[in-house]
Amino acid sequence: MNIKEYVAKRKSEIKEYVAGLEVKPYLVVIQVNEDAGSNAYVKGKLKDCAELGIRADLIKLPIDTTEENLLKIIENCNKNPEITGFIVQMPLPKQIDEEKVKIAVDPSKDVDGFHPLSPLNPCTPQGVMDYLKNEQVEMLGKNALVIGRSNIVGKPMAKLLLKESCNVTVVHSKTSFEDMSRYIANADIIVIAIGRQGYLDNKYQYKPSAVIVDVGISRDETGLHGDAVPGLPVRLQTPVPGGVGLLTRLSLIENLLKIYKGL
Ligand code: NAP
Repeated sequence: MNIKEYVAKRKSEIKEYVAGLEVKPYLVVIQVNEDAGSNAYVKGKLKDCAELGIRADLIKLPIDTTEENLLKIIENCNKNPEITGFIVQMPLPKQIDEEKVKIAVDPSKDVDGFHPLSPLNPCTPQGVMDYLKNEQVEMLGKNALVIGRSNIVGKPMAKLLLKESCNVTVVHSKTSFEDMSRYIANADIIVIAIGRQGYLDNKYQYKPSAVIVDVGISRDETGLHGDAVPGLPVRLQTPVPGGVGLLTRLSLIENLLKIYKGL
């Protein structure tokens, strides 16, 4: 099943579930930026909620909001029993410490899974994992390569793959070309999240049975591009656009429902 079909199937199941609920789950999105990417992500999140019958509100704050004010608003969301869960859209303006904000969110309402004590995983790696499982991609004892080591994608992705008993290797910008080529040639599953358009191309060799999950998003005047060039000689490669971005959006809703159901 391709990603679009998978997401459509899950959405129709979720819509039916939510329709039967007397009290709807309630998501709040707090945004403190005017970033074009964030505007598009927030719009997508609110649209998904509307489509699925989920209550959702956006609290859009001016760019010069102080850290103190944002922390107060977060505290109100933590305390408001009507709110199932909420997210603070990143990035934040430079006067606000992102790490402080991440730990101010009550872990039991942390839809993004960013709090160190959050029982949920960050949406992108969780969404990727759910999809790989739905596709019955074999993981046990397989070689998984994660390219990129950020806190929101690379590291949690590696943790989730390890939990499925993959042999996990994490590489990054300090990895040599020779090592990178060797790891790629040996990988059964490659998850790439670096934000370098077309980084994975035909200069590398791949296992024909490999699965490539392309998390990267680069924007230019021609549109959105992934970290891998389309059409690599592998068994499965997720497209950009219409790939992991959809899984991330779905995963946000799945996380909200997990909170609603008491995890
Ligand atoms: P990030 O915090 O900037 O991290 C990028 C990682 O890539 C770093 O670990 C960096 O290595 C590594 N890297 C950079 N250049 C490299 C190179 N030439 N070779 C190997 N590794 C390299 O980014 P992020 O937040 O993880 O996001 C990564 C990409 O995924 C971005 O394009 C972002 O837009 C996209 N993204 C997409 C979704 C989605 O839903 N589709 C969700 C989240 C992010 P060092 O640690 O050594 O610097």
